[in-house]
Amino acid sequence: MDDSVTDAVSGVPDPIAALRQIAFLLERAREPTYRVKAFRTAAAVLAALPPGDLEARVKRGTLTDLPGVGQATATVVREALTGVVPAYLAKLLPAASQALVQGGEQLRAALIGDLHTHSDWSDGGSPIEEMAVAARDLASGPHSYIVLTDHSPRLTVANGLTPDRLREQLRVVAGLNEKLAPFRILTGIECDILDDGSLDQEPELLDELDIVVASVHSKLAMESAAMTRRMLAAVRNPAVDVLGHCTGRLLIGREGGKPRPESHFDAEKVFAACKEHGVAVEINSRPERLDPPRRLLTMAVEIGCQFSIDTDAHAPGQLDWQIYGCARAEECGVEASTVINTMDADALLARLARR
Ligand SMILES: [Zn+2]
Ligand SMILES: [Zn+2]
Repeated sequence: MDDSVTDAVSGVPDPIAALRQIAFLLERAREPTYRVKAFRTAAAVLAALPPGDLEARVKRGTLTDLPGVGQATATVVREALTGVVPAYLAKLLPAASQALVQGGEQLRAALIGDLHTHSDWSDGGSPIEEMAVAARDLASGPHSYIVLTDHSPRLTVANGLTPDRLREQLRVVAGLNEKLAPFRILTGIECDILDDGSLDQEPELLDELDIVVASVHSKLAMESAAMTRRMLAAVRNPAVDVLGHCTGRLLIGREGGKPRPESHFDAEKVFAACKEHGVAVEINSRPERLDPPRRLLTMAVEIGCQFSIDTDAHAPGQLDWQIYGCARAEECGVEASTVINTMDADALLARLARR
């Protein structure tokens, strides 16, 4: 894949970089996937053309003969090639230079990784490599690693990975790591915490992964005592490194749906167990989640938990959302020294291996 290329003299991105930048900014601005998909698809199609073919097609006017390239994307390409910032991109740039939220800048500057990201292997919208390159090149603060945490098998609505697909993904990631070094893609999973607190993946396979994020995605309305037992079982499982979006709440309903209330559980017990077992409490940065809520995050700080501030990004532009979690963390008194994704990848893995 091409890296983002901008002509240093004119400031005009090359056509493919322009398409990707538009997609990134739309994703960052929480636009629905269908509006973004056209730009991502066109960029991928054009990046696969033999050298010189793109320019030749622009001359002949046959760009839109390519499947996945429509009028809007072809216009972006033509404009970029003539040396002007494409109008579609120019419209998005003013908002892009504005902060998403006030606060959290110092914490964000301390983060060098993201422990919760998805690719198109489960329910994300982009290939692994595109997520990695976007994380490496983030204008809001480049990362030196991401953890790829696609969903586990039972989450069929999110195309969760069977053991075989996860093994295949590990081979793909190994290849990408050779290509992208020194940037690193750490292997991982967002593993469902099943009703009885067990984990939704083969234990031997979980042991092979660098990082395991464990999250509740089903039966969120379970009665409090049972939910507490369920979460405690997961936190005590030595395979688990991070407790994902602990209350499961949705502040904003998805696709016109209703917001979802928090799950009920004994947070004091669960956070104390996180501390005891070295499991980081995730501060989930997605604007519709912002989980844990303030009162619980403050409780986790007082208990002395460790944290990871993650985006749970399902598209490259969402990698920019970490600042939302940082602002929330700062507000609740989270110190950078307690946030594990301030550590470099080796230190992080060494810490987790000591458990
Ligand atoms: Zn999740
Ligand atoms: Zn997730």
